[in-house]
Amino acid sequence: MLDLLDIRTLAFTTIFFGLCFGLGLITYSSTLKKFKMVFHIGLGILFIGLAQFLISLRNHVNDFISIVIANELNIIALILIYFGLHKLCQMKFTISKAFIVTLLLFIFLSFSYYTYIDPSMKSRVAIISYVISLLCFLCAHVVFTAKLKESVLPLRILGVMFSVTAIIELFRITIDTELNNIIGLEDLHGIHTLLFFAALLLITLISFCVVWIVNLQLQEELKNLSTVDYLTKINNRRSLEKIAETELARSNRNNQTLSIIMCDIDLFKKINDQHGHLSGDSVLIQFSDLIIKNLRKYDIAARYGGEEFLFLLPNTDIEQAVDVAEKLRAIIAGNTFTSTSTDTLSITASFGVTSNSDNSINWHHMVQAADSALYEAKKLGRNKVIKGAPKRTSANNLSVLGLNCAKNC
Ligand code: GH3
Ligand code: MG
Ligand code: MG
Repeated sequence: MLDLLDIRTLAFTTIFFGLCFGLGLITYSSTLKKFKMVFHIGLGILFIGLAQFLISLRNHVNDFISIVIANELNIIALILIYFGLHKLCQMKFTISKAFIVTLLLFIFLSFSYYTYIDPSMKSRVAIISYVISLLCFLCAHVVFTAKLKESVLPLRILGVMFSVTAIIELFRITIDTELNNIIGLEDLHGIHTLLFFAALLLITLISFCVVWIVNLQLQEELKNLSTVDYLTKINNRRSLEKIAETELARSNRNNQTLSIIMCDIDLFKKINDQHGHLSGDSVLIQFSDLIIKNLRKYDIAARYGGEEFLFLLPNTDIEQAVDVAEKLRAIIAGNTFTSTSTDTLSITASFGVTSNSDNSINWHHMVQAADSALYEAKKLGRNKVIKGAPKRTSANNLSVLGLNCAKNC
């Protein structure tokens, strides 16, 4: 059935797809500052189209152009795609320039030899098939081993397509025994037709999946921007409040206690005044790293405001939470922080702790209680841990706080 397909039309479609998708990706990359690798992948696809164009000119132009240059272009195309995929998958490109130059030189010399000195179509096909197959397997390896959680599906699709193309290339060498009788494109059939299909599918899927992966990465970045604090890289207040809703519901359903610790660095303004704002920023980062290191895996830390942090401790009663806060207080007081000019400095922090004593306590009751306890700790001289019990807020107070309260609540 494959033999019924017109090989010239398939070749034309490959050229057309290569040029359109290649130019499309190159244009798309000009609008993306962070994804310069889309340009390399686009250029690679464009080169596949150009290479096919030169191959289809066989018998109309010099063999050097339609054989040597065309196949060299095919390999450059795959190297560009291989390089672009590394960058897209945030992996280090480890192939050395010397290896690439040697590979291109090998193609150039062997193709020149088997075109002019000892003409052999079979040898040329064997060489190019092995090299394309190797590069396709390498591309498959990159996408299969990439650690982009959000892009697993498009990466797998690409991996499968690269592997299929690599396998067809290998089959081409073993199956086709009449290669030396081939003079022009029209003499190609069978496995070669299949290869054209693979190339068409590969061009389409690379273009489609690259745009898909870029979109997913941008989406992930937006999600991070809206949930992660830009300085300390821990949860921001918006993210914390979302998590808190779920944790509170879970603790009520399981009849467990959820505790929170609100923490504020003492006299932080003085650090900014004495060491500069950048040192202040650096202390905030060191502070949050220290806290994260000393909390349990399932506790949640967030930057609540400037130098204020809030920690959620699921399944922890008030006394255990006070112990945790006391441990953190001692660790902070005993730690040495560094300013940007590598001066060492010491800081302390004050803590307000509370728990949801029963099911009627909501998130705002808890924050209010922790805030009051923290205020108390400051009043008592700072570097202290104070616990407080949440109080149910009356409807009047709720409306003063601007919380969801309809007219008749
Ligand atoms: P207290 O012990 O009463 O909490 O005293 P304080 O100086 O820590 O509190 P105050 O509210 O007077 O000052 C907080 C300071 O935190 C003022 C503000 O400039 C600083 N701050 C808030 N956010 C940041 C930030 O992102 N970076 C830096 N460097 N400083 C910040
Ligand atoms: Mg403070
Ligand atoms: Mg403060």
